[in-house]
Amino acid sequence: MAEFGMLMAIIGTLMHFEIVSYTWIIVGLLLGSTLGAAMGVWVPMTAMPQRTALSHAFGAFAAALVGIAEYYSYTHGFKPLADLDHVKMAALGFEIMLGSLTTTGSLIAFGKLQGILPGQPLVYRGQNIFNMALLTVTVGLFVYLIFVPTAIIPFYVMLGLAFVFGVLLVMPIGSADMPVVMSLLNSYAGLAAAATGFVLGNNVLIIAGTLDGFSGFILSILMCRAMNRSIWNVLFGAFGSAATAAGGEGTQGEMREVGLEDIAVQLAYANKVVFVPGYGLATAQAQHAVRELASVLENRGVTVKYGIHPVAGRMPGHMNVLLAEANVPYSQLYELEQINPEFPTTDVAVVIGANDVVNPDARDNPNSPIAGMPILEVDHSKSVVVLKRGQGKGFSGLENPLFFKPVTGMLYGDAKETLTKLVGAVQHA
Ligand code: NAP
Repeated sequence: MAEFGMLMAIIGTLMHFEIVSYTWIIVGLLLGSTLGAAMGVWVPMTAMPQRTALSHAFGAFAAALVGIAEYYSYTHGFKPLADLDHVKMAALGFEIMLGSLTTTGSLIAFGKLQGILPGQPLVYRGQNIFNMALLTVTVGLFVYLIFVPTAIIPFYVMLGLAFVFGVLLVMPIGSADMPVVMSLLNSYAGLAAAATGFVLGNNVLIIAGTLDGFSGFILSILMCRAMNRSIWNVLFGAFGSAATAAGGEGTQGEMREVGLEDIAVQLAYANKVVFVPGYGLATAQAQHAVRELASVLENRGVTVKYGIHPVAGRMPGHMNVLLAEANVPYSQLYELEQINPEFPTTDVAVVIGANDVVNPDARDNPNSPIAGMPILEVDHSKSVVVLKRGQGKGFSGLENPLFFKPVTGMLYGDAKETLTKLVGAVQHA
């Protein structure tokens, strides 16, 4: 539907009466299509957050450029200056401010997620005060421009400050708060597009931008709730710096490694098995293998369910998308609140490449940086099996006491390979 919508928008644009030359449009079309197709084909599913960050940057930059071009047209005689009234200037200023800060903010988010920039938050003393001061000056110039739209220098200063503010806004945010920032930036890009709609008198852009802006904002709030964080805290709390703190109690001792055959027997003779997928399932592309294992177990009369954490993986709905791709029935997917009461009656909880979303420290250790984040309480099951490659940490970089609990057995290896081997072993159990 989105592709069809974009096609309609492009055709509509090409037929617009204001077009004087098609040259640059064709150049843009070719360049954009080439870049878009290449990204679509080559960017792996696991790099989706970075890809999304780039899309936000492009979208917001386009909105900012349209705004700058409009302003230039009015102030350089291409359009009647008298038409640049207070309302139009308010929409233009809003578009350019949000568009510019989202462009640089998204580029920084891309850099952090891709590992080009350090993922840790960059913090210094007086940061919040400095950022607030910068924002105040930028918004002050914006308000001034509404009353004096022809003030060209303040316009370009506002533009420059908004670009700088985007960098400073995202630099102090890191680690586990990145998903919220991404959805906030998505929201800003949408609102910038809506403002572009006001500037151009384009109703579709106003509606689509507003939808995007507000759904992104609601999503940010929902994600904050899923991680027990407030938006205010995400923007001004520098969460990731605490994430380097030591793990909570119970991280001493040995992890207990278990054999594949033993697990296969446990699974084959269980009544109820709950799979808990995480980011590792996505990197390993193990969704088909887990579905296969589930089918084998179901054929043996085992009840199979999947526990889905709202921030498992690297993007909202990541696990749902992957499991749907492997035709896992939707009725078997259970949200956190639904599945948690079921763990005490679960024989085996199989954690597949998940780490942070099953970290009991969030529940038990008030000093943990993720304290209060709702988790999937797999440790309440009769037995827990964790499928991961080694001692790697999760996105937050924290140690996970679950792996040291007596109830937990570790089965090392790539999730897809391990699951495939388990399918065979369960069949022969
Ligand atoms: P996680 O905490 O990032 O842990 C993933 C685990 O998977 C790692 O400990 C890693 O251990 C293992 N792994 C990696 N590759 C594997 C493979 N090929 N086979 C088997 N295991 C593999 O994942 P999560 O529990 O899903 O938690 C998600 C985290 O990402 C949360 O902190 C969340 O806030 C954050 N986040 C979420 C979103 C979102 O919107 N969903 C977006 C961005 C960030 P080994 O290295 O030992 O294998």
